[in-house]
Parts: sequence; C-alpha cells; structure tokens
Amino acid sequence: MEKIKIVIIILAMVLIPISLAYWFLFEPAIKVDVVVIGAGAGGMSASLEAENQGSSVVLLEKMPYVGGNTVRATAGMNAVLTPQQKEREIKDSKNIFLNDILESGHGLNSVELIEVLIDNSADAVSWLTDLGADLDDVGILAGHSKARTHRPSGGQPIGSEVVKTLSSAIQKSSVDLRLEHKAVEIELDRDDKVKKVQVIDNTGKIYDIKCNSVVVATGGFGGSSEQFVYYNPNLKGYHTTNSPSATGDFIELADKIGAKFTDMEYIQTHPTVSPHYGMLITEAIRGNGGILVNNQGVRFADEMKNRDHLSEDLLAQPDREVYLIFNEDIRQPLAASDDYIDMNIVLSSDTIEELARLG
Ligand SMILES: Cc1cc2nc3c(=O)[nH]c(=O)nc-3n(C[C@H](O)[C@H](O)[C@H](O)COP(=O)(O)OP(=O)(O)OC[C@H]3O[C@@H](n4cnc5c(N)ncnc54)[C@H](O)[C@@H]3O)c2cc1C
Repeated sequence: MEKIKIVIIILAMVLIPISLAYWFLFEPAIKVDVVVIGAGAGGMSASLEAENQGSSVVLLEKMPYVGGNTVRATAGMNAVLTPQQKEREIKDSKNIFLNDILESGHGLNSVELIEVLIDNSADAVSWLTDLGADLDDVGILAGHSKARTHRPSGGQPIGSEVVKTLSSAIQKSSVDLRLEHKAVEIELDRDDKVKKVQVIDNTGKIYDIKCNSVVVATGGFGGSSEQFVYYNPNLKGYHTTNSPSATGDFIELADKIGAKFTDMEYIQTHPTVSPHYGMLITEAIRGNGGILVNNQGVRFADEMKNRDHLSEDLLAQPDREVYLIFNEDIRQPLAASDDYIDMNIVLSSDTIEELARLG
C-alpha cells in the first residue's frame, strides 16, 4: 500500500508539471470554417468575402500590423472597363489589356490566369470603392497602352488606401484577426482535405485551429534575398524594396502538403529605386512624363518600356547610375512624389544647368 502511495505521488509530481507546461505552451484547439493566412490585400479580401458567404473566419498575421507588401504599393491598380475609365472616355478593352500583359510577360504568362485577372478587374475596383476606397484617379503606366491604373484622387499612393479600407472593414466584421500569430503548418486528413492549421503566437505558444478550408495569402518572397537568389541566381547582389514580411512562407506551408510550384524563377526587377533607402520610385512619375538620363546627361531609353527591358538598359549605363527628372507639371497631380521630396532624395532647382551641377 505504502509503495502504491509513493508511486502515485511520484506520478503526480511528474504529470502535474508536464500538464502545466503543456497548457502553458499549447492552447486547446479551436474550430472555424476558414483559416486565412496573411493579412495583406489578398488575405483581408478573402476573409471579408468568406465572412460575407456565412463562414466563420480566423485571419492569421505574423507581423504586429496588417498590410504586408500591399501597403508599399504606390502607382495604382490596373483594371479595364471601369466606370472611372468610361467617365474619361478611355477606349480600352479586355483584349488590349490581355495583349499588354502578354507582351510584358514575353508570352510566357498563363492566359487562363490573365483572364481571371482581367475579367474580375472592374469588379475588384467597384468592390473596393463600395467599401469606401477612393480610386477616382486614372493614370497610364509603362507596359500599358491605355490609361487603366486606378489610384486615389490627386495621385496618392494606392497601397495605404487599400490597406486602410480593408483593415477598417475587417475591424467592423466578425473576422477574428490575430496579429503576431504565424501559421507554421497545414495538416490534411487521410482524404487529403484540410484538417487544421498549426500556429505559433508571439509568446511562443503553439496551438491548432481546426478548419474546413485554408486560404494561403502569405504574399511573395521578394523580401528574402536568400530566396530570390535561390530561384534566380542572376539576382545575386540585388537590393529589395519588399517588406521584411515577404519571406515566401507559402513555399514551406504548401510544399509539405504536396503543392507543385511553377515559374518561380520569373522575378521582375523594377528600374527606378533609391538604393540608399531601399525605396521604389513609382512608375507613375514616368507615366506622367518623367524622363531618365544617365550621369552624362544622356537620355538613353524610352521610359515607358517594360520594366525588365528598361532595367537592362539602366544597368548598362556608366556606373549603373541614372537620374529621374520631373517638373512641377508632373509632381502636382501626383501626390505620391511628395514623399520622395520629404525624404530629401530629390534635388530641386529652377534651371536645368543648376540641376546638373547639383547632381
Ligand atoms: C514597393 C512596391 C510597390 C508596389 N507597387 C504596386 C503597384 O503600384 N500596383 C500593384 O498592383 N502592385 C504593386 N506592388 C505589388 C503588390 O504590392 C503585391 O502584389 C500585393 O500587395 C500582394 O498582396 P498579398 O496580399 O498577396 O501579399 P502581402 O500584401 O505581402 O501580404 C501578405 C501577408 O502575409 C503575412 N504572412 C506571411 N507569412 C505568414 C505566415 N506564415 N503566417 C501569418 N502571416 C503571414 C505577411 O506578414 C503579410 O502581411 C508593389 C510592391 C512593392 C514591394
């Protein structure tokens, strides 16, 4: 009897701390219809739509804030046959848009995917404006033969407008947004249906969310030089303007459940960036008439060329250095350009000669 008591006491001494540690480290599983991973534009939109269709939704975001790369987008959102285009009598069509995209993608794009983008582009714009986004301005960008880039009035940056609109809709919804909760694994059942998502929170606690569906909206991998050089070694030494959140988490999440990947090596470089600030200088400046000159003062390319061709031309210039020149007529309707002036990366002068001396 005495021995049994001792064994029970020892067992209790072992099991109680183990269960306490388990409760501390692992929370009990919860269950929802849909888990959305990533609170950028993609994940926030998917969460709102899932909720609209009656699903209970948990939206996981690994960073302490929403927005990912979306908040960095500046130039605008391309769409065709929108009320904004009609109002301005812009003669565009789905076919012209398709051909522009195919040309930019050297014909390597999936036409099926382009059609999804084009067919839904006007609805995407209206969906956002119905939620309160200002997408009233329309501009033209390099690689497009028509003005179809929708952005806030006065040429304000698109990303902050979209993120502000979506995050305010999320706050008003019943979507359960969990900041600093990172998805680490998706588990399938024996029939290959999604069973649960494993999550780690900011205190190191690991827990499961049982669900019927999962939307992986973790963005790209352009924020990780290790990843982009792995997929395209030609990009060794390149800087990035991406958010530090863009670390390609989808690759591990989806690979473990048997996803196949395609076209991972096609990574687009952007011609105009400030290397000191790791900041992308919006294409809309060139779209509004800004010109590029090399450090000999020579204009070396058509500024409206596709990004990859223009990037190649730019890298062939002396010291791989060029200047983007714009005047008041370009700046005024494009409020986004004021950010660069505020950051002191713009040299200003009343005459070209003086400007050349400053450069
Ligand atoms: C500087 C810059 C300018 C751009 N300008 C334009 C433009 O003018 N027009 C345009 O159309 N596009 C532009 N883009 C591209 C555009 O921003 C992206 O294509 C778009 O924002 C991608 O949205 P997303 O929701 O897929 O990803 P993101 O907005 O990157 O969101 C992904 C989210 O997932 C989160 N996440 C990642 N892994 C996990 C995980 N394991 N668990 C939980 N959360 C996770 C991230 O933290 C992030 O918040 C630009 C991009 C950059 C970098």
